[in-house]
Amino acid sequence: MRKPLVAGNWKMNKTISEARQLTIDLIHELREIESVEVVLCPPFTALTAVEESISKTNIKLGAQNIYWKNSGAFTGEISPVMVAELCRYVIIGHSERRAYFGENDETVNWKMKSALEHNLIPIMCVGETLDENEAGRTDEVVSRQVKNGLVGIDPKIISGNVISLVLAYEPVWAIGTGKAATVEDADGVITNIVRRSLSNIFGDELSKRVQVLYGGSVNGDNAGEFFAVENIDGALVGGASLKAMEFAKIVQAAVS
Ligand code: PEP
Repeated sequence: MRKPLVAGNWKMNKTISEARQLTIDLIHELREIESVEVVLCPPFTALTAVEESISKTNIKLGAQNIYWKNSGAFTGEISPVMVAELCRYVIIGHSERRAYFGENDETVNWKMKSALEHNLIPIMCVGETLDENEAGRTDEVVSRQVKNGLVGIDPKIISGNVISLVLAYEPVWAIGTGKAATVEDADGVITNIVRRSLSNIFGDELSKRVQVLYGGSVNGDNAGEFFAVENIDGALVGGASLKAMEFAKIVQAAVS
């Protein structure tokens, strides 16, 4: 029922020309894959170049962030209106934004509402830190992030033919560390915390249609184990999305 989705978060990597080249290499590697939704999230400066390169493919474009206001005196920020001209998706509340740029559940919620108002599909990131994990607080932290990030969002906004909401469970200690969560742990959090919280908010039927991704040191070798789990619909990939062959291997693993 839910289409697999693999999104590449390029973070603050790739100049415009490098982004163009990586996209060309990726298109070459991915040319026969249609059953997986592939989303590329380059830095803002490279969005146009990547958009041009993917225009004749099924690959979708995503931004890594937005501000919640449409326009105005907010130096250095990019509005949802600007992003929506180019992109279908936007990553919201990535743990690096929460850790280094002061984002919290409240600003994540404002960005979520703003993205949805502009027909962007948000990929909302949630996940506990190592300290929280070791203190046995994963359940409390992740359920709070899901609930607060989605507070006040009308189910009607997300419930079209295509559900316009994606969640990514990304334990912070697994991001960029090479130490992925075990499949059992990722499944446990996604099934018992993320999906249960979604169901409390939107009801069983609607929440079953929301794609939930795992993120954190996913690579070509471990992706297939995550994708074999019923409740994991794909991955949000950082480091491995910067290498065309590695990313293609992950996408290939999502082909059912
Ligand atoms: C990410 O940035 O969302 C991420 C999961 O990074 P990595 O795949 O490098 O752990």
